[in-house]
Amino acid sequence: MSSNIRISKVCQHCGKEFIAKTTVTKFCGDNCAKRNYKKRKREEKVKNVNSLEHQKLVYNKSTVEEKEFLSIEETCRLLGASRMTIHRQIKNGVLKVAKLGRRTIIKRTEIDKLFAS
Ligand SMILES: [Zn+2]
Repeated sequence: MSSNIRISKVCQHCGKEFIAKTTVTKFCGDNCAKRNYKKRKREEKVKNVNSLEHQKLVYNKSTVEEKEFLSIEETCRLLGASRMTIHRQIKNGVLKVAKLGRRTIIKRTEIDKLFAS
């Protein structure tokens, strides 16, 4: 028994009607299949760029850059330094901080001073 099935389908890429030989065929031809594959890849890329992680990164970056007072964590992120390094600089009096309850707040200008000398 040969497969003589002919199914009317609509190409998922160009929307043209075509006759498919199998039930899983989605495209009218190789060209559309390839183009659709590329398009999907492109869309995946765009999706990745707009992912939550990326948005968080952008948000953190912009807020940290505009803030006048930073937490230890934000300072680490801003300077690309480890917590240890920041704490050492505070202990050595290089970086002046203010204590706000249990939180340590670092004034933005104090960080700028690090680069002044
Ligand atoms: Zn097509």
